Order: sequence, then structure tokens, then C-alpha cells
Amino acid sequence: MDGRAVAAKVRAEVAHEIEQLGSLGLATVLVGDDPASNVYIRLKQKAATEVGIRAVDRRIPRDVTEDDLLGIIEELNADDEIDGLLVQTPLPDHLDELRILAAVRPEKDVDGLTPRNAGQLLLGRPAHVGATPLGVMRLLTEYKIRTAGARATVVGRSIIVGKPVSLLLLAANATVTICHSRTEDLQRHTSDADILVAAVGHPGLITEDMVKTGAAVIDVGITRTESGLLGDVDPGVAEVAGFLTPVPGGVGPMTIAMVLENTVRAAKYRRGLLPLA
Ligand code: NAP
Repeated sequence: MDGRAVAAKVRAEVAHEIEQLGSLGLATVLVGDDPASNVYIRLKQKAATEVGIRAVDRRIPRDVTEDDLLGIIEELNADDEIDGLLVQTPLPDHLDELRILAAVRPEKDVDGLTPRNAGQLLLGRPAHVGATPLGVMRLLTEYKIRTAGARATVVGRSIIVGKPVSLLLLAANATVTICHSRTEDLQRHTSDADILVAAVGHPGLITEDMVKTGAAVIDVGITRTESGLLGDVDPGVAEVAGFLTPVPGGVGPMTIAMVLENTVRAAKYRRGLLPLA
């Protein structure tokens, strides 16, 4: 599955929408200097600028207090030129991540991590949903992978990937199994999956013998190594899978493209063109 090609299509759609909507703004907040987070912020900033979204890049020292960070978010919430606002995670340990994320105005919450947006997804009436889970679903749609009635196994249960992907697959009428670090006999749960989503961060965790012949395998994992980026899925899986996303070039570019799509969505919420719930 070619994430770069589908991402290019999404970007073109976004560019067209921006022509209709006029000027849009996306603010990113990065606390500290985690190298991987730095890369993600740079990619999001660049992609936004390329489609004509005004990108605001707030860099905050690692030792910021929770109150000061909440103040910065409040300022961006109130800024009328900012449509989408995302706080890059993980945050340093001294900060209460969920409290910080909850401070983002729901209309601007392009990561879908405020209680309101996360709750809307659980309730089956999604508003903002995070870019990575949306990117996974868009790939399945583009490649016409049947979800209704399919068995889907999601490995990973984080709030940013595993849980929202599982809820989106459930909403698309798949029968969903969620696995995590305490799952016993992982292979038992992966090997009968028609759709397998790996979002763990352990290179090569999913091997050929764990995958059903013909399955659609979506590799969300990204681990930086000296030999480059590695996914969670062993290359041997290509021998049995019907569809497989590469790393890099699969979910990564989709995530960036869906941040742009979510910024357009945010602009529509803010202009009353879409209801938030
Ligand atoms: P995370 O918060 O660390 O969550 C990892 C999940 O994997 C946890 O639920 C954990 O279980 C589970 N897990 C750990 N070891 C396992 C094992 N041996 N078997 C089964 N499950 C296991 O990570 P995340 O933020 O979801 O990210 C996951 C991966 O996706 C990372 O490599 C990250 O870099 C990548 N990522 C990629 C994109 C993209 O755009 N492509 C976007 C976001 C993240 P517990 O809950 O029990 O700890």
C-alpha cells in the first residue's frame, strides 16, 4: 500500500478546500527537544506551508511549568487566526499530559485527544479524530479493503493510535480484537485477522507465521535505528500478506496528510460550516 501516493491525493483535496475556505492556521507546540518529535513537527510544519496553511511553530523549553504551558495553550486557543492546534507528545514527565491535552479547544483539537473529541468517537459520533488512525482508515478505503464483518486485530492500545483505530474499525463494522503488552499468545490473535494493525514500536514483532494469507497489514510502528526507520512488521510478512504498508512510505506520510485534512475540518467547525457534535 503506497502511503505516499494516497497522501498526495489527500493533500491535493486539502489544497482545493483551502481555496474555498481562504486563509487557515495550524499551530504546533513542542516542549523540549526530543529528536523524533522534532522531525514530526518539522514535517507537519513543512506540509502545512506547502498547501498554503499558515504554520505557527511554538518551541517551549523542557522545564516549562504546567501553568505556563496551559497559558500558552490558552493564548493559542484564543488566537482567531489559528484553526488547528496540536501539542506534540510525549511531554516531559513532570507535566500531566492528559491535563495539558484537555486544555485545547475541542474545535481546534486536530489530534482528537480532548475528552470531548475522544468521547465523541466512543459515542459513535466522531468529530476530530487523530491523524494516524484516520490515515490507517483512509488507506483501507483507498485499497477497497472490506471492513464490514472482517476480523481486525489491533496490536497496541495507546490513546494516539491503538484505541482510536480500534474504535474506527468497530464503527466500520469489523470485529475487533485489541492486543497489548499483557496479551498472552499474541499469534493466536493476529493469525486469523483479515486486517492487522501493528502500533507498538518493536521492530519485527509481527512475523510471517503470525499473519493470515491475504491479510491487509498496516504497520504503524516507527523505530529509528542506525540502519534507518523500522516498522513493527518483519519484511518476511510480504510473502503472505495481501496488502502491506511499507516503513517508511506507508502510514507516516498519511499521518502528515491527515493533519492537514484535520486543519481544514477545524476551520469548518470554527466557521460554523460543520457541527462539532
Ligand atoms: P505507545 O504509547 O508506546 O504504545 C505502544 C503499545 O504497544 C502499548 O499499548 C503497549 O501495551 C503495546 N505493546 C508493547 N509491547 C508489546 C508487545 N510485546 N506485544 C503487544 N503489544 C505491545 O506507542 P504509540 O504512540 O501508540 O506508537 C506505537 C508505534 O507507532 C511507535 O513505533 C510510534 O513511533 C509509531 N507511530 C507512528 C506514527 C506514524 O505516523 N506512522 C504515528 C504515531 C506513532 P501496554 O498498553 O500494555 O503498555
